[in-house]
Amino acid sequence: MGVQLAFLGTGTSNATRKGPPALAFSNGEEVVAVDFGGGAYHQLVRLGSDAFNYKNLSTIIITHFHNDHVSGLPDLFWGEMFDVSGRRETPLTLVGPHGLSNFYQDRLMPFLGGYPIPFEVRLVELANDEQHAGSFYSARAVHLEHVEFSNGYRFSFDGAELAVTGDTSLCDNLYGLLRGCDAAVLEWALPAPGVFPGHLSNEDMARLIAADALPGRVYVTHVYPVGAGDFEAHVDVRRRILGDAAARFVFPDDLQVFEL
Ligand SMILES: [Zn+2]
Ligand SMILES: [Zn+2]
Repeated sequence: MGVQLAFLGTGTSNATRKGPPALAFSNGEEVVAVDFGGGAYHQLVRLGSDAFNYKNLSTIIITHFHNDHVSGLPDLFWGEMFDVSGRRETPLTLVGPHGLSNFYQDRLMPFLGGYPIPFEVRLVELANDEQHAGSFYSARAVHLEHVEFSNGYRFSFDGAELAVTGDTSLCDNLYGLLRGCDAAVLEWALPAPGVFPGHLSNEDMARLIAADALPGRVYVTHVYPVGAGDFEAHVDVRRRILGDAAARFVFPDDLQVFEL
């Protein structure tokens, strides 16, 4: 079996039908998540796929510590602590940029109210260009311009290279992250800069296309519902901007699964 990619949350923390950012990949035996926005833990179950059994979740790789990218972690920890079908006994690995230990101690643990965590948690902080080696993949961190410590990740599988941005503005390291990859998961949060800083806009995407910086398949996530219209209307606007390049773009919905 190859590697499958499942979108758990493709939206934002805004009140739409799409959850905040989270995705997962699986080789059929082990599940790895990238970001874990609110609801991600239960989305794994909603997938209804043996390949994405939450009991096989080994690792969560975090791009940065904005709430929308980590808000599913308290439910995960609480759920695993009190899982009536059998408590987690395997370690959980959290990978993230500098600041992961502080986030874990000062933000996540207080939220859990001092209850002891009955399983091992391994924290791995990755600086720019450092790697985490998993059992069937490796993840190289690439610092991106969003907040002080924001990582995108370049995942290498047997025969496929996947880039995942998390949140970012258009920066040199983004071009480096995308170079030579087979597929990318890209935020395209905003139509225009200025709504919130540090996100990709329509103009940024046009520049990436003009520079031929994008791979053959691009999954777009984290679209903020700016302006009138529903998600489909925002996608239509983006497709018009993409022109001929639209054919290689996918705007996945929550719970969609793809083969890498
Ligand atoms: Zn952010
Ligand atoms: Zn975000």
